[in-house]
Amino acid sequence: MELDKDIQTTQRGFHCSLCNVNIPNRPSLEDHVKGKKHQHLKRLRAQRKAQEENSVFVSGFKPDTSQTDLKEYFAQFGPVSDVIMDKDKGVYAIVEFSEPQNAQTALAQLQHQFNGLQLRVKPRERKNFKLASRGKPKHTQISLDKLNFELCKATSVNEQMQKVVENFELGDNEKKVRDLLVQLLQEVFTEFFPDCQIVPFGSSVNTFGIHSCDLDLFLDLENTKAFQAHAKSSGSTGENQSEDCHSEDSILSDIDLSTATPTEILELVATILRKCVPGVHKVQTLGTARLPVVKFSHRELNLQGDITINNRLAVRNTRFLQLCSGIDSRLRPLVYTIRLWAKQKQLAGNLSGPGPLLNNYALTLLVIFYLQNRDPVVLPSVNQLKNMACEEEECVIEDWDCTFPCQPFSVPPSKNTEDLGTLLFEFFTFYSKFDFPASLVSLRDGRVLPITDFLRSDEKAVNAAEASSPKPKRSLTPKLGPMNVLDPFEQNHNVAGNLNERTQKNFKRECCEAEKYCRSLQYQRKSAKGKSWGLVRLFAPPSEAGPRSKVETEKVMEVSIPFKAAVLPEHLRAQLASAGKGFRGLWFAKVCSAVQMVFEEILKCSPSEETQTSDLCQSQDKAERDGNEMEVNNNQSAEDTGPQAKGEAGKKRPLITEEGPSTSTVTQAKRPRLDEDVKHPKPVHWTWTQRNYVWAGRRKVRRDLLKTSDETSKPEGGCIDIESRVTQSILEKEEKLQDLLEFQVDAEVVGGNESTKVVLCFHPSHDTAGVFQDFFHFLESFLPKMAETILGRAEDVTEMS
Ligand code: ATP
Ligand code: MG
Repeated sequence: MELDKDIQTTQRGFHCSLCNVNIPNRPSLEDHVKGKKHQHLKRLRAQRKAQEENSVFVSGFKPDTSQTDLKEYFAQFGPVSDVIMDKDKGVYAIVEFSEPQNAQTALAQLQHQFNGLQLRVKPRERKNFKLASRGKPKHTQISLDKLNFELCKATSVNEQMQKVVENFELGDNEKKVRDLLVQLLQEVFTEFFPDCQIVPFGSSVNTFGIHSCDLDLFLDLENTKAFQAHAKSSGSTGENQSEDCHSEDSILSDIDLSTATPTEILELVATILRKCVPGVHKVQTLGTARLPVVKFSHRELNLQGDITINNRLAVRNTRFLQLCSGIDSRLRPLVYTIRLWAKQKQLAGNLSGPGPLLNNYALTLLVIFYLQNRDPVVLPSVNQLKNMACEEEECVIEDWDCTFPCQPFSVPPSKNTEDLGTLLFEFFTFYSKFDFPASLVSLRDGRVLPITDFLRSDEKAVNAAEASSPKPKRSLTPKLGPMNVLDPFEQNHNVAGNLNERTQKNFKRECCEAEKYCRSLQYQRKSAKGKSWGLVRLFAPPSEAGPRSKVETEKVMEVSIPFKAAVLPEHLRAQLASAGKGFRGLWFAKVCSAVQMVFEEILKCSPSEETQTSDLCQSQDKAERDGNEMEVNNNQSAEDTGPQAKGEAGKKRPLITEEGPSTSTVTQAKRPRLDEDVKHPKPVHWTWTQRNYVWAGRRKVRRDLLKTSDETSKPEGGCIDIESRVTQSILEKEEKLQDLLEFQVDAEVVGGNESTKVVLCFHPSHDTAGVFQDFFHFLESFLPKMAETILGRAEDVTEMS
């Protein structure tokens, strides 16, 4: 049989590059080539090729041109089967003919006059970014100055983005060096672990690698385990044993792979690396990491590597990233550019091991998710991809469904024709308006899932699942944090779970800054005077913390209390989950109660007559009741939680679930009604008075108090009782203010279009002693911490107030 071009011979048999599978021998190869999968993929590839050959890429027409206009014009070259237009701008179109020769005829015509303009008609091609291997040697480290110089010379942002790829991507030689090391390791490890496989994954092979990225390797011992089991049983029956197993060096005589712990196996891996692989040094086993790993360096090759076992999911998600790159060639330049931007802004790239910044995998998922949400979409959701896979491509790893097609041509090309510069700009717009604390990014669904779907304890569900299956218990909900990005396959894993509040805020702030910049002409047009333009300014070091200037700070006195699902107690999470879309109103009521408690009970401020606290309680009751009513009405809760959900939030009028606490009279509706208050509960207003320096010298008073009690020390704001006693002690000293201080507080909840939080706005209304600035400064840190402590109590706050 003559091998077709998709089949390569390998040391272990054959490899089919079309289906990405290894085939051990000729009879299996014949079966494979005749099989459904291979035939299906061949047909699909031919179909896509024909589509490409039948179509031309057209630009240069007026924005108001319709598909029909173009169809009519191009019909002179032959029957037109489809016209795909750039939806937003009407600047590009793909015209698909029934036959390839029609496209050739259209291309052969030198000039195309259409509605008084000259059309540009080009062959339709997928612009893959070619390697920068145009003879120039590559250096492993790129100086940003050199890159910026090159970027300034480019003629468009699109070209700049391609240059970023060219400058950073792994060159052919670098890839070869990595392959050689993999081969060497494969040979050495096979000596000790017969039939093992060393599988590279991560950035070396996922198409997003940069010079000097680490080499992630998975040591697959499945076959070795089988080998060992077989050798043991045949040994005991006296049958022939393989030479490997008899070998003096064979580790298999020392270790039983079926019972050894991952750390024990990795210790052996480390020993082999140290003793048997030339050039390897700095070998270190990290047994306590989420995934135990052996780290090593290679001196001559100047490479750092990681070896893991039990990491099949990472190999699979690497294939997923490869697939996405193949589906749309715009993904790579976007990811390279956004990675560089994020690194420059200190948002990504934890230097040594775990840290609070985004890792490259999470950042890439954010880019893919954004592309799943463009209109028209650039990339399909993982669920859609699953439906495009054929039966043979089904894949389940550790009970997670990891099915997707192995070849990009199984996925119909996107109708989105936006250019790279626009897509980058829109990336920043998308995330600058994103409500991270209240949303889960789901690439599987290709949309945002509301946080309320994940607030309920899944203990019961886990126990039920456990009862029906003997598999080990695993949580069904991910660890919630300031940013929640669900792994596309391991659905209980938040890949951004390591982020802290600060990184999330910085990410959003930098997106806002970048978005503003992208609106300017400096981003869009090359400077005629040779000044920096386009991407160059995006890669500048991070902007100053906080968007406010000094003048603004003096004018705006605001304190924010962010929504932090992770710190809320079980009962409150359950209530919020029941409230569905109305969770913000209910949470607002709880925060207002907590804030009121801080002022009234902890800081001993007096409410002035204007504040109607009874209304606050009434409204909170209502919010809870409505939250409970929502339990029967929350079948829509998986829909929008913000603008990021498809179809702007607020357009659909949801059932009312709550009203925030309000000083205005609350009309109690008997039945849930349609109301915008679901998204915007009414603001709350308080007026407070204070006669003492309750903010001054608290730290010392707290220290003294703790000395005389057995209570364990808690940080400021960490304990309600201690803080109340601190205030009491200050009051007892009778150091009164010269004159009473009166101040107003306006509270409102925001979210959906921005991060969910309660914003408290302060205005001094009587401050002849000029002390309010000091008091406010204290409140800025004290109030959020104290409110968080109150909200986090195991018992319900409303019962206390
Ligand atoms: P680079 O090494 O250039 O930072 P990378 O993609 O190789 O990028 P690593 O941190 O080395 O990132 O991780 C290697 C691979 O492991 C990733 O590509 C991904 O497949 C998988 N991976 C990394 N982090 C996670 C995670 N949090 N959840 C699931 N898989 C992950
Ligand atoms: Mg890596």
